[in-house]
Amino acid sequence: MGTLDGKVALVSGSGRGIGREIALKLASEGAAVVVNDLDPEPATQTEQDIKAAGGQAVACVGSVSDDGFAERFVNTAVESFGGLDIIVNNAGYTWDTVIQKMTDEQWDTILDVNLKAPFRILRAAQPYIKANPTDYHRKVVNISSTSGFYGNAGQANYGSAKAGVIGLTKTLAKEWGRYKVNVNAVAYGFIVTRMTEVTAETNTTLNIDGRDIRVGVNPDRMAAMATTIPFGRGGTPKEAAGAVYLLCTPESDYVNSQCLVVDAGRV
Ligand code: NAP
Repeated sequence: MGTLDGKVALVSGSGRGIGREIALKLASEGAAVVVNDLDPEPATQTEQDIKAAGGQAVACVGSVSDDGFAERFVNTAVESFGGLDIIVNNAGYTWDTVIQKMTDEQWDTILDVNLKAPFRILRAAQPYIKANPTDYHRKVVNISSTSGFYGNAGQANYGSAKAGVIGLTKTLAKEWGRYKVNVNAVAYGFIVTRMTEVTAETNTTLNIDGRDIRVGVNPDRMAAMATTIPFGRGGTPKEAAGAVYLLCTPESDYVNSQCLVVDAGRV
């Protein structure tokens, strides 16, 4: 028996990193998971890993920023598993520079993937949620960042998007209380994934959504950052996923409209 037996979950950006661990955790607790990624390979990998462990999953490949994606994502859950109980808006990435060098494209792209996409997915889910009331609580967890909570130099676009995610969360928590849906956010500090991998290369680039994005943290900067984290290290994707799982359990049914900062108490 899993805590989430019979539940159906959407997890965007779950081919890699934190999203993948969230999908694996929810599935291991009994949820049927709609996995999403930009690329078919990582999405299929997560889907297969869930099935190999005895869980239920289906992949819904595509960019969360695409027109029509939100409706397709929601329909995949309803058509494949007959329901929709948990929505985790996790897909996102950074495209950093100081404000005087930031282009409109850089601003719009990052707002689109981190803020507009969660808005569209939640909007697409509303008709189904309204038409299909439950006697248990449904859960939404939107992924924010300490860059949105506290601000971070070089991230005017990303910090604004992730702050917007908190506003979206708190607004929907009020709108959707009547549907018995808990809407919360998780703001991560430093979690070790490919976006934040410690690398001696200062120019590591990844092609994400057709764009070359510089990623990685140089070892000196990481060493300095570690001194500000009480545990002296960044979090693992598994630890990051645990926080989302807590907000998906029945035990958190009276936790609503919150932004849980998951940064190990960084100062
Ligand atoms: P990651 O390892 O790069 O994983 C991100 C995942 O999202 C990848 O599977 C990626 O797909 C997918 N993705 C990106 N853009 C997408 C799009 N347009 N449509 C669908 N999928 C998309 O990053 P992560 O560190 O796990 O980040 C997960 C979330 O946590 C993000 O919202 C991020 O902003 C947030 N966050 C992370 C940290 C941190 O320290 N790592 C801190 C604060 C907040 P591809 O692999 O195909 O590109």
